[in-house]
Amino acid sequence: MNSSSIPTRPQSRFFPVMKTPMLPKGAFAGKVALITGGGTGLGKGMALMLSSLGASVAILGRRLNVLETTAKDLSASTGNQVLPFPCDIRDPEAVKGVIDKIEEKFGLPNVIVNNAAGNFVSPSERLSPNAWKTIIDIVLNGSANITLETGKRLIKAKKGASYLSITTTYTFKGSGFVVPSAAAKAGVENMCRSLASEWGRYGIRLNCLAPGPVPTEGAWSRLDPTNSFAEHALDTLPTGRVGEVEEIANLASYMLSDYASWMTGEASTKEEFYKSSDEIATSRAGVTIVLDGGSLPFAAGEFNQFINIPNEQWDVMEKAIRESNAKQKKK
Ligand code: NAP
Repeated sequence: MNSSSIPTRPQSRFFPVMKTPMLPKGAFAGKVALITGGGTGLGKGMALMLSSLGASVAILGRRLNVLETTAKDLSASTGNQVLPFPCDIRDPEAVKGVIDKIEEKFGLPNVIVNNAAGNFVSPSERLSPNAWKTIIDIVLNGSANITLETGKRLIKAKKGASYLSITTTYTFKGSGFVVPSAAAKAGVENMCRSLASEWGRYGIRLNCLAPGPVPTEGAWSRLDPTNSFAEHALDTLPTGRVGEVEEIANLASYMLSDYASWMTGEASTKEEFYKSSDEIATSRAGVTIVLDGGSLPFAAGEFNQFINIPNEQWDVMEKAIRESNAKQKKK
């Protein structure tokens, strides 16, 4: 599946696809990028762009052969190192092990992309508990495993970093037929907004990017198995065409770069507009991008005032919580 096999509407000629990197050469020189799901689709596109802008890139996924082929191709094309790191991000121990290996090879990652995901269309009443758990484990727990493991190490090493999580446009109002994904991706966005408030003091930024329809083989074979959605999707796209991998990669590289260093806690959909088409209500994401140094999510989070509590007091509070838990268990 690629965008050239999908029809376009006439107005798409006004919206040309710009495939070359918009950032200057060397924008990521000296940076170490970690991209989950970097062997295929959007992850591969982001790996290519970050590598062409000078980053050393670690790509993660479960299939070694896919990672190896991508790593070889990208390194040859950019002249910078892209290396394969097989890892199932659902397993926290495997994540620890793979971060050790990346640190050994490149140093601690400071450009981190939570891109790996699982998703498929299904009426929710057909979902088994295992299907639900698998999607939540990859999307929400996998992103948390990567973020928390790298974050702990970065904080300890007193190093800053920039995170980007690839989410979806249905995180705000949800969507039928992809309910585990909707629940998990909304969780990822709230994790990022919350950590943006908490970890800014350590030099760490976190943002999210929600792509609309961008044809990739992996995602589209499970979301549009009969190719019927793609044609309908065009009626919901005022630009008259689907997106291209390089367009996502360009925005991702901007958001991850120091050009966006005042952007944090930015996590997609703030408004939704509804349009009735063929009796199906389709939701469209708003396009307001907030660039405010993280002020909006910080002001919105009622516990963010805890930022002023020193570490020693956290020790006291943790002890009190443990004691109270133990007491309650005895009752
Ligand atoms: P894709 O090619 O299927 O990418 C998914 C990647 O995740 C694969 O490389 C897969 O590699 C990896 N992965 C899955 N489970 C994993 C696990 N447990 N551990 C490690 N890696 C794992 O699809 P894509 O379209 O590029 O999607 C990339 C991201 O964009 C996803 O977050 C998706 O939700 C989001 N997105 C895509 C679209 C779109 O239209 N394409 C729209 C909205 C959002 P292995 O199978 O080898 O593990």
